[in-house]
Amino acid sequence: MNAFQKLGLDADLLKAIEDMGFETPSEVQEKSIPILLEQETDLVSLAQTGTGKTAAFGFPLIQKIDPNSKKTQALILSPTRELCLQITNEIKNYSKYKKSLNVVAVYGGASITDQARSIERGAQIIVATPGRMQDMIRRRLANISSIGYCVLDEADEMLNMGFYEDIKSILSHTPKEKKTWLFSATMPKEVAKIAKKFMTDPIEITVGSKNKGTSNVSHEYYLVNHRNRYDALKRLADANPEIFSVIFCRTKRDTQKVAEKLIEDGYNAAALHGDLSQNQRDLVMKSFRSRQIQMLVATDVAARGIDVDDITHVINYQLPDEIETYTHRSGRTGRAGKNGVSMVIISKSEVRKIRTVEKIIQQKFEEKSIPDGKEICKTQLFHLANDIKKTEINHDIDPYLPTINEALEDFTKEELIKKFFSVEFTRFYNYYEKAPDLSSESAGGRPEVSEGNTRYFINVGSKDGYDWKSLKDFLTEELNLDRDDIFKVDTKASFSFFNTDEKHADLILSTFTDYQQNGRFVNVEITKDQKSERGGGRRRERSGGGGGRRNSKGFDDKKGGKFSGKRRSEKRDDKGPRKGGRNKNIENSIKRRRSKA
Ligand code: ADP
Ligand code: MG
Repeated sequence: MNAFQKLGLDADLLKAIEDMGFETPSEVQEKSIPILLEQETDLVSLAQTGTGKTAAFGFPLIQKIDPNSKKTQALILSPTRELCLQITNEIKNYSKYKKSLNVVAVYGGASITDQARSIERGAQIIVATPGRMQDMIRRRLANISSIGYCVLDEADEMLNMGFYEDIKSILSHTPKEKKTWLFSATMPKEVAKIAKKFMTDPIEITVGSKNKGTSNVSHEYYLVNHRNRYDALKRLADANPEIFSVIFCRTKRDTQKVAEKLIEDGYNAAALHGDLSQNQRDLVMKSFRSRQIQMLVATDVAARGIDVDDITHVINYQLPDEIETYTHRSGRTGRAGKNGVSMVIISKSEVRKIRTVEKIIQQKFEEKSIPDGKEICKTQLFHLANDIKKTEINHDIDPYLPTINEALEDFTKEELIKKFFSVEFTRFYNYYEKAPDLSSESAGGRPEVSEGNTRYFINVGSKDGYDWKSLKDFLTEELNLDRDDIFKVDTKASFSFFNTDEKHADLILSTFTDYQQNGRFVNVEITKDQKSERGGGRRRERSGGGGGRRNSKGFDDKKGGKFSGKRRSEKRDDKGPRKGGRNKNIENSIKRRRSKA
């Protein structure tokens, strides 16, 4: 009898499980599945990220659904569009032998009418983000009044993202008798509150230890201006020549962007995120394990499977949205009894988040400043000297020695060393000699020229149910921007303000041209007191057809656009010390030689 069979799963599921190649159930699956199959109960299940929670609720849910009824019987709420799609996909895989079972994903940023149509065709299971689900209910596009099960997946993350009120309201549209299954990586107060308020005598399952920071990881944060994030990252790498690290970004886009820039600047870097095929991901992981890649830039979701010891540094390029994700990130280093460092690059406004993280991990952060050019040069010099010392001599060059000796015979050893290092080091030195101090304090004196000071007016506000946070969520989602790109969100009763860099202005104005929400026009204008040359140019031509909605094409267009053009050439001057630098090549050849020996 197969281990999954023992849990009580039916033949259709077992076949699908076999197809997926799952051999044994994970602990959270072993503990949750029999309970959920045998009992009609509420459940709170706590297990770390990556432990297979989706199947822990997905398998029993599928088995309990009546595929012959087209009614919606289960609702799964999940915090983000990505997770929503991921869960939907998983459920589809699990239920592939249950022909009449339909799962529909419901999330923002895609056509609500298409989603409604899919539900109308009969969706026994809906997987939804809270915001869009609310919309659906309000517009009577989905009926969850007779569901038997409601799953709150990644509950901690949903609450961290401020979805409490949405969840509460959604649940009020479900029947009292339904069973609620809550899955979460951690159990902060807020999750306990949900369990208490909306669940009846839930059975509790905990797998592994609750998330605590690993004690042999030290935590550091570095204050920088937002626009200096990338340069700060490079310096952290340059100041740690032996770095073997995972760099976490919040979005796939940032992950790809940062990795590309690092590669372009001559670092051994690669991206790991969900847009890569399984094959590509395997290749990346293989190069990482074999240390060909020193800097792996990853999203949280993609990094789940990383089981590499010896990682020296975890770098939080941005803090995660869900503070508790920080624990998962920092847990990638300091494994197998080794020491590790978890670094966070933050802007001033995020310092309070550090305090929250400190409370959760019960460890203090050390505030450090980004190493300056001198420090980095010193470190790199010593590193190079050390490498030379450790290098095994390659005797292939013996035949050329007499000639070389002759060429260099007039120099003392001291002079030779100086010359040798100068050859290797001048580019590095030149770069860093001119490099500004990146710590936020000193850079703060410089006004942020055209960065983030384009202010907009938008005609929705608290009357429309927005607070600064949900408005920011709405804007980031609609515009496909990062949360860091939108700031100073200030909601008034019937209108609000927010800021972005000027480079986003075209995108924002075109997105909100003829834009309707619930039948109402949402209008965005650049505020008048802004001395902007674009003055009355609000009505801009949309680049593509249909809705002014941004698509991937729009993104590419923007890249070559008017405003980014300037920034790109600026960036070009800012090439790292490594690009074309000889020290890197020499280092590599030293390594190659060493590994040959
Ligand atoms: P969580 O929700 O706990 O973070 P997921 O449900 O997303 O974790 O699962 C993480 C990964 O593990 C997924 O790729 C999933 O397909 C895989 N997985 C889940 N259960 C098993 C299992 N029993 N055997 C092998 N792989 C599994
Ligand atoms: Mg999950």
